[in-house]
Amino acid sequence: MKKGLAIAMFLLVLGAWSPTFAYVLWGYKWSSPNITYECDMYGDYTTQCNNGKTEWSNWTDANLSYSSSPGITTTAGNFGNVSWSGLCSVGSSSGSTVYRMDISINTYYTDGYSSQKRKGVITHELGHALGLGHENRLGPGGAVMYDNDGRTVYSPTQDDINGVNAIY
Ligand SMILES: [Zn+2]
Repeated sequence: MKKGLAIAMFLLVLGAWSPTFAYVLWGYKWSSPNITYECDMYGDYTTQCNNGKTEWSNWTDANLSYSSSPGITTTAGNFGNVSWSGLCSVGSSSGSTVYRMDISINTYYTDGYSSQKRKGVITHELGHALGLGHENRLGPGGAVMYDNDGRTVYSPTQDDINGVNAIY
């Protein structure tokens, strides 16, 4: 009886703990939750970027507002057969504080994607731009920050949202 209770409590703690702390932080953060962006790519890339931006902005403590001279920049282009469909790189930073994040979308792959999958790629990269790293412990389907292109998640999950809210 006592042993059973201990196991039950351990499982309860484990169950409560793992979803709360599954997200991984990249190590960079903006100095304020008010972050500027642009989605000035073209066609469906702009549409899906705006869709992903709206979810991050509405669902987390980060506030994304448009600027023609933004912190988060986006580019869609044919970067060839280079193994990535989306990339987020630090454009400017000082220590862990970031001043610019540059997102690249590789149309070599993504032109052949559905709009939904394109949105998944861009939303994932926006997650990096906000300061999230890759979350693979929850497996495919657990987080938009899972680092696999065969993604089944197109929007931030509760784990992704918790990660951004832990930063801002
Ligand atoms: Zn990634």
